[in-house]
Amino acid sequence: MTKGIILKGIGGFYYVDTPDGLIECKARGKFRKTVGKPVVGDRVSLELQPDGTGYLQEIAPRKNCLIRPAVANLDLLVAVASAAPPVTDPFLIDKVTAIAAHKGIDVLVVVNKSDVDPGDELFAIYQKSGIPTLRVSALTGEGIGELRAMLAGKIAAFAGNSGVGKSSVLNRLDGRFAAQVGEISDRIGRGKHTTRHVELMKTPGGGYIADTPGFSSFETEQMDLVLAGDLADAFPEFAPYLDACKFTGCAHVKEKGCAVLAAVERGEIAKSRHESYVKLYESVKDIKEWELSKGGTR
Ligand code: GDP
Ligand code: ZN
Repeated sequence: MTKGIILKGIGGFYYVDTPDGLIECKARGKFRKTVGKPVVGDRVSLELQPDGTGYLQEIAPRKNCLIRPAVANLDLLVAVASAAPPVTDPFLIDKVTAIAAHKGIDVLVVVNKSDVDPGDELFAIYQKSGIPTLRVSALTGEGIGELRAMLAGKIAAFAGNSGVGKSSVLNRLDGRFAAQVGEISDRIGRGKHTTRHVELMKTPGGGYIADTPGFSSFETEQMDLVLAGDLADAFPEFAPYLDACKFTGCAHVKEKGCAVLAAVERGEIAKSRHESYVKLYESVKDIKEWELSKGGTR
């Protein structure tokens, strides 16, 4: 049986990258009852047909799975930011890092447009938070070699506000990316604008990158999941302090004797990270209140 990774799914067909090249497949396996529908990033086994197409037989257990875009087995979530216009609000980055932490996916903050503004402030925030951070310029190529190395052999997805330079960075990584976008769609006779499905592109280092997913739907849907969990756990740098708060059940928002707040005061936790936490905490409260009113209880 041939093994590969699903790069794209469209209209009941799955396009699988295998050692024998890209193979168009239909699903025909018992996994429909267990893991459900195949998604991009799934590691699959397929049975080749004499006409060169294939049948998906098995889906390997998923390491993780995002909802929208539906993509499985991510090794790295890259939060692309910029200190040059359009300047990235750190809150956007913090939502991505929270999603990554919650899903157990490694995260990398990339501060692009370093040629215009080195983004010292952003850089300092994420370095302090223990989150790998890289300064790059799609224009001059600064940091692009390091980024390429960090993506090697991994399945990665880029997220970031529009205009930060996601497409430019991808193109700087490999000029063939621009050509790859929509390539599969063209092959089956559809324009690249007819679908908003996520697609994985191969990187020169033997990895894959999900083409810039729609950031707003990405963050809202996954964020609900993070909020449903223990929010403080989505901020890994809070961990050393969580057991030291004076009161059990401390929300780390403005409580007396809160060790997290004390660490923010001492400059051990970045202020903006804690501000993001509080903003998210407030939205948890909103969700809970909404759930209650929906249920008719008060
Ligand atoms: P996306 O919306 O995140 O995909 O952003 P684009 O890649 O379309 O880039 C948005 C704008 O920023 C374009 O005009 C790019 O030329 C510009 N840009 C992207 N990266 C850089 C960079 O590193 N330096 C500078 N000076 N401009 C950049
Ligand atoms: Zn606390």
